[in-house]
Amino acid sequence: MSVLELFESMEYGPAPEAAESALQWLAQRQPFDLFINNRRVKPASGQYLETINPATGKVLARVAAGNAADVDAAVAAARRAFPGWSKTPGHVRARYLYAIARHIQKHARLLAVLETLDNGKPIRETRDIDIPLVARHFYYHAGWAQLMESELAGYEPLGVVGQIIPWNFPLLMLAWKVAPALAMGNTVVLKPARYTPLTAMKFAEIVEEIGLPPGVVNIVTGEAGQVGEALVRHPDVNKIAFTGSTEVGRAIRQATAGSGKRLSLELGGKSPFVVFEDADLDSVVEGVVDAIWFNQGQVCCAGSRLLVQESIAERLVAKVRARMEKLRVGDPLDKAIDIGAIVSESQLREIRRLVERGVEEGAQLWQPSTACPREGYFFPPTLFTNVAPAMTIAQVEIFGPVLVTMTFRTPEEAVTLANNTRYGLAASVWSENINLALDVAARLQAGTVWINATNLFDASCGFGGYRESGFGREGGKEGLYEYIRPRWEGAGGRAGRRRGLAEASASGEHKAQSGNGHAEHGSNGLALAGSEVFADLAGRMPPIDRTPKLFIGGRQVRPDSGYSLPVRDPQGMVIGQVGAGNRKDIRNAVEAAHAARSWRGASPHQRAQVLFYIAENLAAREQEFALRLVQQTGRAYTDAAAEVQAAIARLFSYAAWCDKFEGSIHRPPLRGLVLAVREPVGVIGMACPDEFPLLGFLSLVAPALAMGNTLVVIPSPQAPLSATDCYQVFETSDVPAGAVNIVTGEREPLVQVLAEHEDVEAVWYFGSAEGSKRVELAAASNMKRTWVNYGHPRDWLDPVQGEGEEFLREATQVKNIWVPYGE
Ligand code: NAD
Ligand code: MN
Repeated sequence: MSVLELFESMEYGPAPEAAESALQWLAQRQPFDLFINNRRVKPASGQYLETINPATGKVLARVAAGNAADVDAAVAAARRAFPGWSKTPGHVRARYLYAIARHIQKHARLLAVLETLDNGKPIRETRDIDIPLVARHFYYHAGWAQLMESELAGYEPLGVVGQIIPWNFPLLMLAWKVAPALAMGNTVVLKPARYTPLTAMKFAEIVEEIGLPPGVVNIVTGEAGQVGEALVRHPDVNKIAFTGSTEVGRAIRQATAGSGKRLSLELGGKSPFVVFEDADLDSVVEGVVDAIWFNQGQVCCAGSRLLVQESIAERLVAKVRARMEKLRVGDPLDKAIDIGAIVSESQLREIRRLVERGVEEGAQLWQPSTACPREGYFFPPTLFTNVAPAMTIAQVEIFGPVLVTMTFRTPEEAVTLANNTRYGLAASVWSENINLALDVAARLQAGTVWINATNLFDASCGFGGYRESGFGREGGKEGLYEYIRPRWEGAGGRAGRRRGLAEASASGEHKAQSGNGHAEHGSNGLALAGSEVFADLAGRMPPIDRTPKLFIGGRQVRPDSGYSLPVRDPQGMVIGQVGAGNRKDIRNAVEAAHAARSWRGASPHQRAQVLFYIAENLAAREQEFALRLVQQTGRAYTDAAAEVQAAIARLFSYAAWCDKFEGSIHRPPLRGLVLAVREPVGVIGMACPDEFPLLGFLSLVAPALAMGNTLVVIPSPQAPLSATDCYQVFETSDVPAGAVNIVTGEREPLVQVLAEHEDVEAVWYFGSAEGSKRVELAAASNMKRTWVNYGHPRDWLDPVQGEGEEFLREATQVKNIWVPYGE
């Protein structure tokens, strides 16, 4: 070809990255065994699986097919390593993590090529995005290891963590899992995805090279049904961290229910990419390319729904099509390729099936005229127009290079359309009007929102879902809490706690022990006077009958059943009646909680005022509330008065926290800021503990309200009157109608309705072990967040156990809003 011809055609020449070194590396080492205790261990089955290069369909290497016996061995190794590793000083752990980061950088080229070979994604991406982000993740968490002792005092690691990752970002997902786990002092058993184990094999080599103590990181390859399930069910695993499909996430939620295993789930998405008419359309086009053709669209947060303001839809679609004509699909090792291969034949089949479905349902399919390679698993970039919101392709995650387009007229409609999905992983908003963009960002239900940008990631910025995209965060400080627990909740703390609580919760035997430790919280002259009043009243006057109803939508309403339940004192005497709430009452309460939107929109200052006011009104009726506790529990008056005092103090705490539990501003390596905003979870259903009928109730209600949630509360069935007495306190304290709804009755059937309810975002449950399990199981239906106590009581009087950040974190979810600077 002459220079002139070249100049005229401007054709790309081939620009392949050499694969020889990587292939040689594979040839020398394969077949790959399991990695346990820093040793290569043959799989118990004696079998190996093949991993292929999806760009050619050819076998790259053979990798051990682990099974349950191998998982046992790996978990045992991790367990043995845990005491030593968890006691290793933070600075020393930081050195190890730093060494990993450095070694990732040293082997960056090999890792990038291996990843491209195994996964099929363009070398441009593995080289410039995946691997640098992996290194960054280890650097960032080396820092947290260093700072753990000072910044996370009072917390301890969980123990052995089982980590299960998908194939779309094999080494990056490994880093997102392993780095925070190790930084916080946990040990790890990792299962790579079936199709993409190779970079994890190189990672094992790095673990050895840097001399990480044996057993701290163990890697078990194999099939999901063998290794994954065994890990999930293993009794000696303290936590499962999973990234993958919502379907498998739901199965894992069910399999771990009631086991006490901590769980974080990073699941699928169908993220909206919202374009307003004043957006810079040329930037938008490049954004679309990054949103849906990055990694062949096999990205959990892919902007797979293009929502365009009607006035510019035609123009934008024309521009997108013109750009699609220029996208180059082909050999992922070619540095000038935009779109590589789909990870596997079955994934390719699934994409085809969904695309055919789109055509059948009447959407308009468009693909560029450029060709795909015939060999290997390729799929062209695809655009659907004429899409209706209810179509399969508009609702289901395709996980391929397929974009669906819909239009809207107003910002209101854009928000509705964007939120019309069961997912909530990410979103991006395009507009030159900053007011509009930020307003829409605040209203999108998603864990990450990019403004005039898309698919940006950084270790400092937490990542994770709202709704059925899962719960828990990876990255940022918030991600660390997935790998630690308050020290008092750990094995050491628990024994002592049980002892302390034996006294407090054994109601009835309490009368005699006014001298126990709790009195110090509120023993004063007032308490004494109160007990005299009580002695004076006792037995002399018939009580005035007060039969509380339910409290729904700010009004006291009769229970749907028309029945009441007796409330008895410890001697068995009937001291009152409460409404017997049922399924219908709960549903009404959930509706009322949803309608109470004004509370979500209230400023932190307004919420603080309301909480202070509740405290003030409670204080005005201190003696009455103390007497009520005496009556229900038989405890000494001083003891009861101390509980009321503690409840007032607790309300003050959360009034204080309202405007102090704030988000943060991250500075990832880009010109711009990331606003980490703490948003309320939504409607929280809660079942209150029996111990401390007033304090237990308010310890849950106050933080949830403080953070802007609206609530459906089931008080202790044993002692519900302290909660129902609060109706009047709430009514006189400017709590908006519907912000707190209270349904009395039997705890278990009522909380079941909440846990199954599709419109409840989280359930808090403080009751039995079996009840905890039922809640976790039922919550899998819409992947709602749960916070349960597995039957372990806590000492609600102790501020370490009964209040603070743990409650505030459960009451919030972090949304990261990326705001790049510049034109
Ligand atoms: P997948 O759910 O099939 O598999 C994920 C991992 O879980 C794999 O390692 C697999 O072997 C294992 N696994 C499968 N069944 C299991 C079981 N019953 N018990 C234990 N482990 C099991 O998902 P995939 O096809 O590998 O990945 C694609 C999905 O992952 C997409 O839905 C995507 O949205 C999601 N994803 C989410 C994120 C995120 O951060 N939210 C990131 C990447 C991918
Ligand atoms: Mn592969």
